[in-house]
Parts: sequence; structure tokens; C-alpha cells
Amino acid sequence: MKLQGHCHCGQLSFELRLLYDAPIILARACDCSFCTRHGCAWTSLPDSDLLIYEHPAQVSRYRFETSTADFHICRSCGCVPLVSSLIGEQEYAVVNAKMFSNVDPANIQMSPVQITDESEAERLRRRQRNWIATVRYATEDQAKTG
Ligand SMILES: [Zn+2]
Repeated sequence: MKLQGHCHCGQLSFELRLLYDAPIILARACDCSFCTRHGCAWTSLPDSDLLIYEHPAQVSRYRFETSTADFHICRSCGCVPLVSSLIGEQEYAVVNAKMFSNVDPANIQMSPVQITDESEAERLRRRQRNWIATVRYATEDQAKTG
């Protein structure tokens, strides 16, 4: 199963690949000041593999507070399709369920989440547990092969 998503103008897109069907997708509506303003709802699925299509020139990476996560913002349309976090050598990510293009919104189950009481170390450990751990960039693949 492949879940696809993109920003409004289509410059930033992603594919979340699963080896199983996910009839209901859980998304967390984060209550931080950034996500509240953008209406972001984050999702990661166990054992999924994320392929990101973006060119560095098309994306603005925004950081705040602990500066441990990069919000990928489309420079053209302002949408935020994903957020990534480099922990050690490993990149983790979650995708914004509002950006899915081939998922019926009725199958997305939103729940609120509060992350404000976490320490930075707890936050990083939570990302290592829950975020997508296989993150690749299509542009890098193309550069390697071509
Ligand atoms: Zn865009």
C-alpha cells in the first residue's frame, strides 16, 4: 500500500510505503504553537518507509524551541507536508495527514496530543520510538543513479 501526499502546489510530495493495508490512519493534532497555526496532524505508521520528493531550493526548513526538528515548508505555497528530525546519524520523520492525496479523510482518525511537558531527551526518545525510521530523498537516489 502506498499513501501519497503533497503540498498545495505539488512541489513537495512524499510516498509512505507499507507492506500491509491501513484502513484507518491515526493522526495526532499537535497542540504546539506552530502546528496549531498550520492545522498540522502528524502520522507515522509502523514499519513504513518514506520517500520524499523535494528539491532543497523549494523547501524552507523551519526550527523553533529545542531546534531538534525541521518543519519542511513549501517556499511556494506555504504548506507543511512533513517534519524530520536528525538524531545521531539517523533521520526520522512524520507526515502531515492533511496532505494525503489518495486517502479518504473519513479514514483519518484525529486525536489531540500535548507534548509541552517533555524534556528534550524524552522528546528525542519518543521520536525514535514512534516516528518513521526509514526516510529517503528521491533527489538523492536520482543523484546516486544518474
Ligand atoms: Zn507547495
